[in-house]
Amino acid sequence: MADRIKGRPVYLDNHATTAVDSRVVQAMLPYFTERFGNPHSANHFYGWEAAEAVEVAREQVALLIGAEPDEIFFTSGATESNNLALKGVARFYRGRKNHIISCSTEHMCVLDSLFHLEREGMRVTYLTVGSDGLIDLKELEAAITGDTVLVSIMTVQNEIGVIQPIAEIGTLCRAHGVFLHTDAAQAAAKIMLDVKAMDVDLLSLTGHKLYGPMGVGALYIGQKPRVRLEPLFSGGGQEKNIRPGTLPTPLVVGFGAACEIGRAEMDEESARLGRLRDRLLDRINAVGGIHVNGSLAARAPGNLNVSVEGARAEDLIAALPDLAFSTGSACSSVSEESSYVLRAIGVSNERAESSLRFGLGRFTTQAEIDYAADRLVGEITAVRSRKRHAAE
Ligand SMILES: *Cc1c(COP(=O)(O)O)cnc(C)c1O
Repeated sequence: MADRIKGRPVYLDNHATTAVDSRVVQAMLPYFTERFGNPHSANHFYGWEAAEAVEVAREQVALLIGAEPDEIFFTSGATESNNLALKGVARFYRGRKNHIISCSTEHMCVLDSLFHLEREGMRVTYLTVGSDGLIDLKELEAAITGDTVLVSIMTVQNEIGVIQPIAEIGTLCRAHGVFLHTDAAQAAAKIMLDVKAMDVDLLSLTGHKLYGPMGVGALYIGQKPRVRLEPLFSGGGQEKNIRPGTLPTPLVVGFGAACEIGRAEMDEESARLGRLRDRLLDRINAVGGIHVNGSLAARAPGNLNVSVEGARAEDLIAALPDLAFSTGSACSSVSEESSYVLRAIGVSNERAESSLRFGLGRFTTQAEIDYAADRLVGEITAVRSRKRHAAE
């Protein structure tokens, strides 16, 4: 409501990025100005002050996922964390184990890292998913061989929001002595994560999907059992040389604060978002011919992905400039082809072209959802009737 009054579209694209929480901004500000020290300056107060702030943030990030602080390595975001996990582990164990198992609906930064590794000689198995968007655990188990070093399966899918059974996957991987990596960019602070209970060895996070700043993230690297990996960069030894480079203290502080707030408010906030998401679905269901893509039950609370019969997503987006939502994922919308994720769950091209993704977030209000639902119902009806008249 407030946003519409200010004349800005209602923001329903929280999978692409989230606004930085003003509490996070406040926590960051001093580290741009008076507390500007290089956290790696070991000889004076400015360095110590920044280093201390970095270590507080490391604890905050660790706490969100049930890790130890010394298992958290700061990076520039989930793309880098995924690259580091996949290429780092593959290259370290190369020659001894040369097989990775992943899934066809992973984020493009995981898939592209794997394509790169295939060109380096790794063998990669891409598991398929059912129409619910979930992998088959039996298929996973059957794919594991003595040559398998790593399984990489995302926790929450960024287009359709489905939650993979990571704890079960973890049990399986542990039983076979295979490392498990999960891209949890869309899961952290939205659903409960505990790397120890879930037997996860590597986990990727990013600040800008949980109300922290862009340009900072982390890779959790488990120490029990110890995962070894080859760094992507060469440098001055920061982050135990796993990820050298000067840490951006203000971003790290903001990321830590965002994790702390996310953890404290997760239960209540997820319940609220689930209710708002269901309200949005109920209301747009009134027009009929709405199909939810992927499992509705195993889904992160802020996600809704639907195909609308008789209306192209392109036309609805053009007709609704007062709503900010997307079709497919922001990362793949630069390419013309329809979403590979929707194709993987068996959605036809026509349905994919009528798919809408809504991402609700911390600052989404019920008034905004009601407004969005009314506008959608109105424009879906209008687009369909224009189409009918054109056909007559
Ligand atoms: C956003 C996102 C990424 C990329 O994260 P960046 O921090 O923007 O690099 C990776 N994986 C998933 C699932 C995402 O949603």
